[in-house]
Amino acid sequence: MRGDLSSVLFTEQEIQARVRELAARIDQDYADKSVLLVGILNGAVMMMADVSRAMRIHCEMDWMAISSYGSGVASSGVVRILKDMNTSVVDRHVLIVEDIVDTGLTLSYLVENLRSRNPASIEICAGFRKPEAVAARHVEVKYLGFDIPSDFVVGYGLDYAGRYRNLTGLGILDPKVYS
Ligand code: 5GP
Repeated sequence: MRGDLSSVLFTEQEIQARVRELAARIDQDYADKSVLLVGILNGAVMMMADVSRAMRIHCEMDWMAISSYGSGVASSGVVRILKDMNTSVVDRHVLIVEDIVDTGLTLSYLVENLRSRNPASIEICAGFRKPEAVAARHVEVKYLGFDIPSDFVVGYGLDYAGRYRNLTGLGILDPKVYS
């Protein structure tokens, strides 16, 4: 897989070190609260597994699956819930765990949707964020792994055509792979 990348943005060690820092902040912020981690399938599986295991406080986990991209390649902000949570979020401290924020439209929809269900609080933890999300400010990511360039990236849960999710680092896919 490594040979299919034009560059490695972050190694496994760099990601794991950052994840431990985020988990320590989450531990502090939710020390006296019961936090419900909501992972967004499929991309956030690695982030969810690593952040939750680096945490030292209790947490519960649930999952949602949404279709973030419509038929095109650009995010439309029109999001369909393919799988909803099994847990009620009423009066719960919800922490959404997402892989990457590109435009932020997907998360902004999701936050509005979950907010209408009356949680006690709702925050976002994401592995990576692209410049467009910073510019558009659709959502605020409280716990962010890394800011990255706007290139199409794979690894650490992120796929191209269903592959590369199991790369332990994050890299830019070489155009030769899709040409
Ligand atoms: P947004 O609504 O923030 O524009 O889109 C977020 C979603 O688009 C992510 O959850 C992810 O599924 C997908 N996405 C955005 N950028 C990338 C990328 O560079 N690589 C991959 N594999 N997926 C991406």
